Amino acid sequence: MKDEYLRQLAREFPDQFPDGQAYSINVGDGWYGLVREACVKLQHELIDNPKLRGRTSWFQIKEKFGGIRLNYDLRGLSGPMLSNSFLDAISEIERRSFKTCEDCGSCEAVTTEGPGWLRSLCPKCREEMWARRSRR
Ligand SMILES: [Zn+2]
Repeated sequence: MKDEYLRQLAREFPDQFPDGQAYSINVGDGWYGLVREACVKLQHELIDNPKLRGRTSWFQIKEKFGGIRLNYDLRGLSGPMLSNSFLDAISEIERRSFKTCEDCGSCEAVTTEGPGWLRSLCPKCREEMWARRSRR
């Protein structure tokens, strides 16, 4: 994800990126909206449950088998500290990533199928990825 987006997220959600950088995010620009949505959900969680504050941050946000994986770090706190509505929201965002192009954010005809790596892409971005690869 481009630096501008990473800086924006670190600025908007400083509790969630304690190092002041959003280096834990390693997905394409098209998923910026999904990542931000997850941050908003976590922010509500931190407001509702002050015990989590200062101990909950994003450990790793990455792509796996074509979908987004939103991994948080609870630093010694256990999973049940989090509300069901937060956990459901995170699963829902992860599911939705399969229908959201990781490169451009389009929701049109996105699949993980087609030539190249297993990634959630729209037809246009898949073609571009393929063209970039074959030029090497
Ligand atoms: Zn696309």
